[in-house]
Amino acid sequence: MRIFMLLFLLASALVQSQEQLPQNYFQNPLDIPLILSGSFGELRSNHFHSGLDIKTQQRRGLPVYAAADGFVKRIKVAHYGYGKALYIQHPNGYNTVYAHLQRYAGPIQEYVKEQQYAKESFEIELFPDSEVLAVKKGDIIAYSGNSGSSGGPHLHFEIRDAASRPMNPMLFGIQVPDSKPPIINSVYVYPQQGAHVNGSANPTRLRLMLQQDGSYKTEAIEASGTLGFGVSTNDQLDGASNKNGAYTLQTTFNGVPTFGVQFDRFSFAETRYLNRYIDYGHYRTDRERVQKLFRESNNPLSIITQELNSGYIDVAETYNGMYTIEITDFANNKTTITVPITGKKEFNVPPADRDETNDYVYADQSTAITTGKFSVFIPSNALYEDTFLNINSKGDTLFLHEDVVPIHKNISISIDASNYASQDLDKMYIGRLNYRGQPYYTTTYRNGSKLTAKTRTFGNYALATDTSPPTVEAANFKDGQWISKHTTLQLKIEDDLSGIASYRATLNGAYILTEYDYKTDLLTYYFSDNVVSDSENNLKLIVLDNVGNSTTFEATFFRK
Ligand SMILES: [Zn+2]
Repeated sequence: MRIFMLLFLLASALVQSQEQLPQNYFQNPLDIPLILSGSFGELRSNHFHSGLDIKTQQRRGLPVYAAADGFVKRIKVAHYGYGKALYIQHPNGYNTVYAHLQRYAGPIQEYVKEQQYAKESFEIELFPDSEVLAVKKGDIIAYSGNSGSSGGPHLHFEIRDAASRPMNPMLFGIQVPDSKPPIINSVYVYPQQGAHVNGSANPTRLRLMLQQDGSYKTEAIEASGTLGFGVSTNDQLDGASNKNGAYTLQTTFNGVPTFGVQFDRFSFAETRYLNRYIDYGHYRTDRERVQKLFRESNNPLSIITQELNSGYIDVAETYNGMYTIEITDFANNKTTITVPITGKKEFNVPPADRDETNDYVYADQSTAITTGKFSVFIPSNALYEDTFLNINSKGDTLFLHEDVVPIHKNISISIDASNYASQDLDKMYIGRLNYRGQPYYTTTYRNGSKLTAKTRTFGNYALATDTSPPTVEAANFKDGQWISKHTTLQLKIEDDLSGIASYRATLNGAYILTEYDYKTDLLTYYFSDNVVSDSENNLKLIVLDNVGNSTTFEATFFRK
């Protein structure tokens, strides 16, 4: 019996490792050719891109089709992030996700509206039972849009496995023409402790020379000790000028594979480790994402599929060798970079640059730092490595290092504001100062005269006051106007400092659903919801900002 169980376990492990992915099970969710503005695994701000961004010809309202049979298992409407999103569960265990939608279609739209009216909220998250909203492959489930944190009309499409890990949709036979090999922007070498490259212990950018066969060679380097390399690369697909991500990166040292990365699948729990994987400081100063081709401490990324000595190479004296980086896209177009290396020990190499400040934070310990009225708490493993931080304050402003060091877990900032009267405190918050010195709202908690905010970004923070309520104005009608032909009622709502927190609109005393788009500051009511009377209608809208200042707007309009 035991042996049988063992065999069974072995057999299922084998099946898992050679997981056969269904091919052509999922159809294109749009009926236009697939042109991508984003590929799977692409490096984004604080995350790897979890799906495909499909261009929608600069348009909104294109029908979105169920990629396969299944049922709607989750619906989420949010001001930010995915905006209006739809999740379908398929019988083979996979899920598909459709995001930044303009609206849902047919019975799904009716279901969402009904729930939004019941909960009196535009933002909503629903988990319908499997029999409530069944779909067939090719059914129109929604219309494409630009909702949430989307920078232009497109459909964000994902395929997730049974454990909700996003997978590369191209593994399922979704094809996108791609005849161009990956582009190389730059190659860096990172000398580790005690190592040097061309007489320097600092990270060094290597000069790239394009060869006749399309491959690259860098300048020859003279080095000694342990080295890691990094590359900034993009891939272009046919039919679009966007720079997307590459699919695989593989390095070798004298023909021996040393480090491999492949964008097939990852989990949302690991996606923020992108900030450990890229050279974060370089990205913040030069806006270029260099992928480090070695695994440092506190980097559990599963996209790293192969490694020898964590990807580092050791260069000995009088040694001659070749290091290569091969980058492929999903269509298997290749670009290769060769780095010729000569071992040469140099003496009196100045140590690598670093700013030694008062606050040295050990990554594996929690640290509390007090400066003036502020106290900062950094939990253990909020930082990826032991780091010198520069933390100071002046009055109500906290200088919390610089955004060149990544933070993985929330750190908290508290200020003792007992020198302010309590009625003033009610309108105060901790703001992150943007490059113009304006305090951008950070969710602030109040406990007596102590204000606390949590953040994952270094930079300057200040105690700020917002005493001005939101502004509201009618956008597509005038008070007292007949608007029988309008399909929507639109209002512009804005708040200067702390930002919009909530809004509630009624018509003749009855709740109406209004949709808020933070990008246009517009609040929209659709007359098709049918909460309207013949002739006179009295609109009332209450808007609150994040510190509780409120504005009540009233207007009358007529319809028949
Ligand atoms: Zn996307």
